[in-house]
Amino acid sequence: MRKRLLIRGVVQGVGFRPFVYRIAKSLNLRGYVRNLGNSVEVLAIGDVEGFLKLLRSRLPPLAEIHSIEELPAGDEEYGDFVVVESSGEGGFGSVIPPDVAICDSCTEEIFSPHERRYLYPFTVCTDCGPRFAIIEALPYDRENTTMRDFPMCEACREEYLNPSDRRFHAEPIACPRCGPRYELYQGRRRISAADPVKEAARLLDEGHVVAIMGVAGTHLATRATDSGAIAKLRRASRRPEKPFAIMARDLKTARKLAYINREEERLLLSPQRPIVLLRKREDSPLSPLVAPGLGNVGIMLPYSGVHHLLFHYSREPAFVMTSANAPGEPMAITPEAVLSLGYQDYSLVHNRRIRNRVDDSVVRVVSGRASFLRRSRGYVPLPVEVRLEHDGAVLALGAEENVTACVLSRGRAFLTQHIGDTRKLPTLEFLEEACRAMMELNRIEGLTCIAHDLHPEFSTTRLAEELASRYGCSTQEVQHHHAHAAALLAESGEEELIAIAMDGFGYGEDGRAWGGEVLYCTGADCYREAHLEYIPAPGGDLATRRPLRLLAGMLYPSLKGEELAELLLSLGMPAQEAEIVPRQLERGFNVVETSSMGRALDAASALLGACRERTYEGEPAMKLEALAMRGDACLELPVELKRVSGCEVLETRRMFSAALEHLRGGEARENIAASLQAALARGMALLAVRAAERRGVERVGITGGVAYNEAIVRSIREVLSEEGLLPLQHSLVPPGDGGIALGQAYVAARL
Ligand SMILES: [Zn+2]
Ligand SMILES: [Zn+2]
Ligand SMILES: [Zn+2]
Repeated sequence: MRKRLLIRGVVQGVGFRPFVYRIAKSLNLRGYVRNLGNSVEVLAIGDVEGFLKLLRSRLPPLAEIHSIEELPAGDEEYGDFVVVESSGEGGFGSVIPPDVAICDSCTEEIFSPHERRYLYPFTVCTDCGPRFAIIEALPYDRENTTMRDFPMCEACREEYLNPSDRRFHAEPIACPRCGPRYELYQGRRRISAADPVKEAARLLDEGHVVAIMGVAGTHLATRATDSGAIAKLRRASRRPEKPFAIMARDLKTARKLAYINREEERLLLSPQRPIVLLRKREDSPLSPLVAPGLGNVGIMLPYSGVHHLLFHYSREPAFVMTSANAPGEPMAITPEAVLSLGYQDYSLVHNRRIRNRVDDSVVRVVSGRASFLRRSRGYVPLPVEVRLEHDGAVLALGAEENVTACVLSRGRAFLTQHIGDTRKLPTLEFLEEACRAMMELNRIEGLTCIAHDLHPEFSTTRLAEELASRYGCSTQEVQHHHAHAAALLAESGEEELIAIAMDGFGYGEDGRAWGGEVLYCTGADCYREAHLEYIPAPGGDLATRRPLRLLAGMLYPSLKGEELAELLLSLGMPAQEAEIVPRQLERGFNVVETSSMGRALDAASALLGACRERTYEGEPAMKLEALAMRGDACLELPVELKRVSGCEVLETRRMFSAALEHLRGGEARENIAASLQAALARGMALLAVRAAERRGVERVGITGGVAYNEAIVRSIREVLSEEGLLPLQHSLVPPGDGGIALGQAYVAARL
């Protein structure tokens, strides 16, 4: 039999061709295999049935087949089975693989003294190593990656060309003779060291801060058990409180630092190697400065040769490994940018260019399921499949902070890597560059529409307009929480749902600050069914940074004037501010109204002393969650609804007044924290239950940044289950603003 097949999916850069070659040889087939830019073509002559069976059942670990199309087979004869050189021709359909962790065989090789790659940090094979980070153009061939800077030596070339070698067409193949290398710097001065990696490990052990350039980005590293070293890093990088992720030597060591269940273990060891948010052990040897005031710590395991080597030379159980960037700016990825950071004592940099910057991914297991906080390294640029009939291509630019963009075309949503806070120009430029790369790598040339947030002043809104005139296409604004809800529809394939959308801030259709919303969403259409009571936030943005101001708004007008000033003073507000805030509320001067769940949690955090000054996004709510984890939701707090201009509203003020009474009565803060979280969650769930009844809908989605809070999600799910409703959560994109571009693109494509 003879068949010519076009195979689409994750088939490039994952050892797919050598795999095809091996099974074809094992069945004595004749014919060929070749890359076609975006897919792989196979001519199989002989036992084609047997070949197809093996093709599906023995796929390499990173490969995925999405479709196999049969083409006219022709009648050319072949004496053998061969691998044909690449051709740039080819259609749409294949996918660029992400960067994955070094495999076990390569790790073993690094530590085998008789191997020629002994102690070589850039060791990779067809099953592992950088892909997206180094690709410049299609097809995925060495000449189209930044590895073209390193002509292969004889020995590497032989492996690369030998179809039975496990490095056959491993594009980033390298060895100590021909490949990239590390250099060590103190400040801007290069230090000569026989082995720069070994020397860097020694410096880390001495308590220095070392910048380490890796596969797709750069980390600032220091000892995770050394408060002095971490304090130095915090001062230098101006991150007084923000939690640092750490890298643990291995799984056994990680278990001494945090509690790890089976799903968390699977994630830690997966080829994607994300940072997994885990509950800290009380007896952990980690410095309390790693994640101050929090019950969780983000841990990842080594994922490249250099990480394994650092631990090999070091005595430390774990290193702090935080992204090396100026606040709000993208990570440094060139040696020059790393050396100019100025936060570190030493820098370990290499000369393999990073084409696509990719931050570490972050996941958390909530109610037994993995949930993305950040979907980036290891997952991007793989698409999310979306069930949607739609011609053309839509680009969506996300919100403002935690931005990712999304290109949606032919039922596939390509989300970019984590971009960050687009209020800084370099980050906005990174966003533009990442969109361009994502379009080029998927051969998307034109756009039909660019979707953006409803907020008129977001820099992404302005960028959308600029790009639309460049591409000659339309723009589409999408309300923030509508986009959150639509992201749930896009990834689940559901047609309609009630969405509980809880986060910090989204510009509402009434121009006010939304964030505690119950919506009925059918894709293109969305209706606001209910929300949290509007609370005045005196000082607007200032109230977000100083959450005692939010508390003042929450207690006003049942507490006002002198009485309110006294309370604020007793809770630690400076005297002058405590005097001004009640007057500001009374006169409505510079007061912004918000229905945000995030802001309600901030107010609770301030009331209970968990956080009164926000130094990073989400800090008050995260510290409240940590406090609540130690308490019991044993207090009765009023959960009452009212109707305001056609919408059902949860009366949060009453809850807070009752909570204040408990605090004054001497109740434990931990219990008040847990009870307030539970009451807010029950209130949101109740609003959703009533909306679901009105609309005759069974599915209730939970989305928005607050969906990371495990206790809140658990309480909501309990109420929904009791009422026979079906809870729906994100599994493919983050519930926070890192997933919003998917929803925006989906809405624009449905319109
Ligand atoms: Zn490998
Ligand atoms: Zn070599
Ligand atoms: Zn949001």
